[in-house]
Formats: sequence, structure tokens, C-alpha cells
Amino acid sequence: MISVMTGVYLHIPFCKRLCHYCDFYSATALGLKTEVLEAMRKELSYLADFVPDRTASTIYIGGGTPSLCSVHEIAGLLDAVHHTWDTSNVVEVTLEANPDDLDLIYLRELRTLGINRLSIGIQSFIDRDLKFMNRRHDAETAIRAVGLAQQAGFDNLSIDLIYGVPGMSTRDWAHNLEVALGLDVQHISAYHLSIEDGTFFGRMQREGRLKPVDERISEEQYALLHDRMAEAGFVHYEISNFARPGYQAVHNSNYWNGAHYVGAGPSAHSFNGTHRRWNLANNRAYLDGFADGRWFETEKLSEIDQYNEFIMTRLRTAAGFRAEELVARFGILKLRKFIRAAASLIEQGLLIREVVLGRESDWTEVGRKESLRSEGDTKSKSDIVRLSDDSSSGVCLRLSGDVRAIGNVSGHETGNGGVECRDELCAAVDDKDCRYRIGYEHFLVSDAIIAELFDAG
Ligand code: SF4
Repeated sequence: MISVMTGVYLHIPFCKRLCHYCDFYSATALGLKTEVLEAMRKELSYLADFVPDRTASTIYIGGGTPSLCSVHEIAGLLDAVHHTWDTSNVVEVTLEANPDDLDLIYLRELRTLGINRLSIGIQSFIDRDLKFMNRRHDAETAIRAVGLAQQAGFDNLSIDLIYGVPGMSTRDWAHNLEVALGLDVQHISAYHLSIEDGTFFGRMQREGRLKPVDERISEEQYALLHDRMAEAGFVHYEISNFARPGYQAVHNSNYWNGAHYVGAGPSAHSFNGTHRRWNLANNRAYLDGFADGRWFETEKLSEIDQYNEFIMTRLRTAAGFRAEELVARFGILKLRKFIRAAASLIEQGLLIREVVLGRESDWTEVGRKESLRSEGDTKSKSDIVRLSDDSSSGVCLRLSGDVRAIGNVSGHETGNGGVECRDELCAAVDDKDCRYRIGYEHFLVSDAIIAELFDAG
């Protein structure tokens, strides 16, 4: 179900210096900061007309480098949000920060403003890599920043890391993961380096001075990331995001779940389900456009655009989507079209089709038994999970390479803490009772998988 509440995003388009990989809009000249922040405060009230509900669910101050703003400037922006939006239901207020901007006084003051989640851009704990990426902090500063944030009382801390960096070995990456896990943070975002046009690295690549890492290394580092994080108790809930249970980022999860959002500031985007709008990605142009009432462009999404967006955002997450959601939004014919497009991906094991019966929210895992193996299928791995203490009901989870069935199978106890798996259960379900998702092992190539599912019209 799509929440009608709105995520509010504020883009601070300033950085002290530009990192070599970064393609977010940001300027190093700070001369327009006061003017831009003033325009953003006004823009927040105009944005309220773009969405049907002025109730904010989350506030996210990103950039750029929000920690270049003083406490007074952040307070001014938050006041403007509170002035226009009903913020009584806001569950998460995040601020992105660079490690070398943080001291205890600043952090404590941020907490008093209601910021309850801090996202610190660390990227690596190896000074050589930090220099290579043109980051302005070193490893020691990064570690100290996390400690200071904890001392200031932040108990929902996220850090960003980058892997797949030329010159960073898998051993280096393992070191970064161990240091990160030793910091006792609640959330880790780990991105594979992508070399974008218009960045310093993009230019180096064009000039033949930078080669992306070998795919084998990418896969190795990704597998290490997934396995190590899972072992440490983190939930891998989106391609690049890992959280301790209960600490999934609400603001970003809302993007992936198709919720509405508004963005203030140069280059910020807004989305209301049917329209997308984006602001001019240049501070001077944004200010001039703001004065003339022309600081953004809008696009109406066709039904095909909306459908493709649904597929693209939902399949980024480990949960994927339930077919009944697709039917509710786009109709049963669209589901049938999806199933046709998905068939070969499912067969290749790139997309997982799960049969879901009952309410997932009722499930509690109480037993697990590995016993059922389809004869002759050497790839298959079966696993029975009983998810209820009530012996008259249970849930069968059958993993057989490409199909996973989950459903109530009352009265079929195996006597082993499991529940008998019945093939007819899988066969009898309605297509609407299925969930589709990409397995972790294919997240690295998810863009290619998703592209095959797009409706070309
Ligand atoms: S990565 Fe962050 S600090 Fe670096 S240039 Fe981009 S926005 Fe600025």
C-alpha cells in the first residue's frame, strides 16, 4: 500500500571540494549559500501544492554537504518544513555529514534540532583510497567522527562505503568492512564505484588513465560484503543498503516503495505518483529561475512510465513486490504481461517467484529443517520452516532453485518441527498470491534484469 504521506528532501548544493567519483550537483563556491537557503525555505511552501497530502513522513537533508551549514542554517530550513508541513508524524530526520565537519558541540546541537539519524560519508578507512577519491578526511577522522556522534547521543547512525575502486584489493575491502562493523553503527550503505561522465574519474577513464575494476573483483567484493554483513546480523534490504533489524532507512525505503516525495534546492526531484519534477541543477540558474517562477521542469508520467518505475524501484529491494499490488495499481492484464516477460528470468534463476499465502506479518520462525530435495535436481535445496507455534497450521517454505512457496499448510505436520511440503500447494495458487524479487546473488546485475521486465509500450 502506498503511503500518501510525503518524504521531504532538502538538497544542500555545496561542498568544500568535489570527490572524483561524484556526480551529484554541488558547487565549491559558497558565495550563494545564504541566498540559496533562503530560496529553499520559500520553495518548501510551494512544494506543498505538488502532493495531495501535507503530512510529512520523513525529512532528509542531503547534498552536497549539509554539514557545511551552521546549526542556525539547518534550524532555519527545519523551521520552514515545520511551518508548511504537518510534521507530527515524522519518524525520521536525517542529515548527511562529512566526518571532518563534526565536533561534539555541533553534533549535540543537531540533536536538539530533532535530527535523529546521521549519515556519515566515510567511503573507506584506507587513507590511500580516500586520497585517490579526493575525500577531504582521513581514516582516523572518520573513526573519530562516528565516536563523537555516538557520544552526542545519535543511536541511528549510517555510514557510506565504496567498493570496486581501482587499486582497492578485496583484502582492503575486507579491512574496511571489519573497521565499519567494529564501530557499532546501525546502518551501512555500500556502493560499487560507478564511473560517471562529467566527473574527474570519468575524464580519467576517457583519457585512458583509469580502468574500472575487473568484473570478477566486483563480484568477489560484493559477495564478501553480503556474506560478512549477514554474518554480523545486518539485513540486506536493498541492493546497496544494510541495516540492523529495525533500522532500515525510512526515507529511502519510501522512494523504493513508490511513496510521494518533494525536494527543495538545486537539482532536487519531486514525485507525486503521476508527475515528476526536477529543479535546475545550477545554483545561479536556480536562483534566477526562482525569481521568475521557472526553476523546475515537470513531466507527466504515462501509465507505462509509472509501471516501469514500479518495477524498477520495487525490484531494488530484497522484498520485491507482491503481485496483488501490481494488480491493484495496473490491473490483471498487466500482471499477465509481467508474468510472460518474467518467465525466462525465473527459469534462469535470475528472478524469484514466491508463493505467499496468509499474512506475512503473522509469521514467526520457530523451526527449520532441511530435508526435501527434489529427486534428480542437484541444484535444488529444500528447506521447511514452520512459522507458527500452533501445531494445526504452519508455513511451508520450499526452495528449489527458482520457486519458493510459502503458505499455510494446516494439518501436515512432519513431526520434525517442520510442515510437509506439497507440490499441489504451489500449483493451486493464484498468480496474485505471488511475490517477485531478485535474489541477493543477482543484485549486481539487477539493472539488466529489470530492463528485461520493462514495458516498451
Ligand atoms: S561525494 Fe559528497 S562530499 Fe563528495 S563531492 Fe559528492 S556530495 Fe560533495
